[in-house]
Amino acid sequence: MPYPINGSCQCGGVTYQLLFEPLMIMACHCNACQKLSTSAFSITAVVAAESVEFNGVMTEWRRTADSGKINGAMFCPTCGNRIYHFNPQESDKIKLKPANLSDTSIIKPTAHVWVSEKQDWYDIPEGVAVYDKQP
Ligand SMILES: [Zn+2]
Ligand SMILES: [Zn+2]
Repeated sequence: MPYPINGSCQCGGVTYQLLFEPLMIMACHCNACQKLSTSAFSITAVVAAESVEFNGVMTEWRRTADSGKINGAMFCPTCGNRIYHFNPQESDKIKLKPANLSDTSIIKPTAHVWVSEKQDWYDIPEGVAVYDKQP
């Protein structure tokens, strides 16, 4: 794998380096992720917190997920691109939004979650784990 991989928001105000392979890559079909991605699902790369180095100023927004956990979101204040999500109580991991990577060939979700809210026109590929809600 070609690590490190550089990432950047759309305007270039926030950049980062992903130093190591993600722990897991998943697609989330929940309504909030459809709003976020302006598409049928969003993709998350769960990575160890120390495996990413960020540069640039980000703005933080927090919401409480269905599970009761706090879902923090970091985004570029200029172009609005979402950079990563995190749970302040699980600070060893972050949920990178990996479409910002310069090499997106590593983005192959092995799990699809919240398929109870999935768009009808999207068919889940064979051979991935599928969950109705959050596993
Ligand atoms: Zn930006
Ligand atoms: Zn979601």
